[in-house]
Amino acid sequence: MALDDTLRLPFFNDEHRSFAQALARWADAKLPSLPHDDVDAACRARVKALGEAGILKAVVPQSHGGLHPVLDVRTLCLAREILAFRDGLADFAFAMQGLGTGSITLFGSEELKRKYLPPVRDGKAIAAFALSEPEAGSDVAAIATTAKADGAYIRLDGEKTWISNGGIADHYVVFARTGEAPGARGLSAFMVDADTPGLSVAERIEVIAPHPLARLTFDGVQVPVANRLGKSGEGFKVAMATLDIFRSTVGAAALGFARRALHETVEHAAIRKLFGAPLGDLQMTQATIADSATEVDAAALLVYRAAWMKDKGAERVTREAAMAKMYATEAAQRVIDRAVQLHGGAGVTKGVKVEELYREIRALRIYEGATEVQKIVIAREMLKLRPGKAAQAAE
Ligand SMILES: Cc1cc2nc3c(=O)[nH]c(=O)nc-3n(C[C@H](O)[C@H](O)[C@H](O)COP(=O)(O)OP(=O)(O)OC[C@H]3O[C@@H](n4cnc5c(N)ncnc54)[C@H](O)[C@@H]3O)c2cc1C
Repeated sequence: MALDDTLRLPFFNDEHRSFAQALARWADAKLPSLPHDDVDAACRARVKALGEAGILKAVVPQSHGGLHPVLDVRTLCLAREILAFRDGLADFAFAMQGLGTGSITLFGSEELKRKYLPPVRDGKAIAAFALSEPEAGSDVAAIATTAKADGAYIRLDGEKTWISNGGIADHYVVFARTGEAPGARGLSAFMVDADTPGLSVAERIEVIAPHPLARLTFDGVQVPVANRLGKSGEGFKVAMATLDIFRSTVGAAALGFARRALHETVEHAAIRKLFGAPLGDLQMTQATIADSATEVDAAALLVYRAAWMKDKGAERVTREAAMAKMYATEAAQRVIDRAVQLHGGAGVTKGVKVEELYREIRALRIYEGATEVQKIVIAREMLKLRPGKAAQAAE
């Protein structure tokens, strides 16, 4: 099932179909002309191009020049799938503009929305989401960065790491411990401008699929109390509600990478001659293609089910988004690995698309909740459905 066939499913309306077609046309025409060498410049160029083309309107609400009254998860997923199919960094640039402002859209004051959303929508400012710390990745409740009241200001001290867009972002949503209660119930979220005194980029981190990433230090960083997103002590809720929207979109990006790998597999199997016939004539090749095609379709159904449910008003789609993220990222890894195998030596050669996809997919199984974390989330939701002891044990 190609994307065009997926779009015929009842999950979508005509607005989604036109958005997807226009974006695919734009991406085919524009993305190849953008720089690739320097990762910071490449990322900035993509944010600017996406903004100028009006594509980033998908990441802000209509009240601030966006496409829909509330963020439309199907549109976000379609955008990520289409961009990831063509260019991993373009998907990353799009996704981070959304993740880095989702908390403002959901919990920000009108003043914060007016200040931060329009420049991000227009590709004139770069956004980031700073949750993880050296000792608090999967275990968000272990966050140690502190936020202490200091008159009309909040003083932030601590460290964040693995922050996407770290080093090139204009602002960060920062999660810190305000201490109303132990663990996850004692966190709050704040908007922090990148040029605030005391905020430094301590280290740039290089990863297998290059994109801007950094470790940040906060040394007496002062932000106005009015920069808080949501109520004091609601930081965990802010983070989880934001991830509830964006988790399915990680699955959509994985789907885009997987679809591209499948496309490359089918093309290669038809063209490459082995033992006097196309590689695709071999039954083991056909089995590989069948496995990959089925997994791509299953991933598409799970991703767009989660997105559709959220758009149709489900308050939380915790189980469905976790399934979509887990299955789509794990399946994409398998589909891409098969594509590399089928390409033989070419598959591990730098510059060949499947080699790039092999590096691109890996981090998606780790960030925004590793696969193991998604399994726990899904199981807990299942146990909750069952009255009695099992549900209590899962609390
Ligand atoms: C490329 C990239 C971009 C990122 N961007 C951002 C960003 O923009 N903002 C941000 O805040 N963070 C970001 N992160 C951080 C990311 O969210 C964390 O890496 C992730 O949450 C895992 O945390 P950790 O690295 O500390 O691993 P750990 O928490 O130490 O986990 C290590 C491994 O343990 C396993 N595991 C975890 N929990 C369980 C469990 N309950 N049971 C069994 N096994 C388990 C998983 O396999 C996991 O991968 C990014 C990470 C990467 C790699």
